[in-house]
Amino acid sequence: MAFVIVALDGPTGVGKSTLACQLAERNQLLYINTGSMFRCLAWKWNRLDKPENDEALQKLGEQTQIVLEADGRVRCDGEEISSVIRTEELSALASQVSRFVPIRHALKFQQRQLVEQAKIGGAYRGAVLEGRDIGTVVLPKADCKFFVEASPETRARRRFVELQAKDPGVRFEDVLEALKQRDEQDRNRSEAPLHKAANAILVDTSNLNFEQVLSVLEQYLRPFLLTESS
Ligand code: C5P
Repeated sequence: MAFVIVALDGPTGVGKSTLACQLAERNQLLYINTGSMFRCLAWKWNRLDKPENDEALQKLGEQTQIVLEADGRVRCDGEEISSVIRTEELSALASQVSRFVPIRHALKFQQRQLVEQAKIGGAYRGAVLEGRDIGTVVLPKADCKFFVEASPETRARRRFVELQAKDPGVRFEDVLEALKQRDEQDRNRSEAPLHKAANAILVDTSNLNFEQVLSVLEQYLRPFLLTESS
């Protein structure tokens, strides 16, 4: 039986995680949130006082145990860090650590391994990986590639509403500024910068609600799943 690989890339705050998670749940796919893997390493990197030499970074990438649990929880070397890695501080650190080549190589290897294991395991019809470089670098031969976009203002507005629920003092201008900075870093780094793969389907979500975006993605995905079960 064929195994369908879905790459879902796009910038910060565009709603990729919720989309990928729903897509996975509704279509029996393994969901891999690659941003959580970078956040995990960023959390540990910070604890190690942010080393920048290749040897330390390679060790960090290769010798850190990252576990993405089915319920969305994240463990780093056995420690549960799911909520710690969702702060604005960790978002900025993840963007910093993700520019290092040894880190990207180690995670690329682990991400491909997770897909291979799921393929062999037989519990899933495929996998959906969400990130920045899935369709371009990690799995360039993915069956179905999406690049999800929205204007910085739209994305910052969504993030602002989320953050405000936890901290009423948060300012929209600060959220927008932080988001633009991460965009800038992610799009302009030399290793695996964020950009749309030539054969990815571009989905602009600025004027669509969640259900509408999900339905667009599923329309493209359906033929792959049908071919696979027939
Ligand atoms: O997706 P999320 O916002 O959780 O990712 C955190 C950071 O990790 C991003 O800003 C980006 O710098 C980095 N990242 C990456 N490549 C991926 C996933 C995330 O560079 N595939």
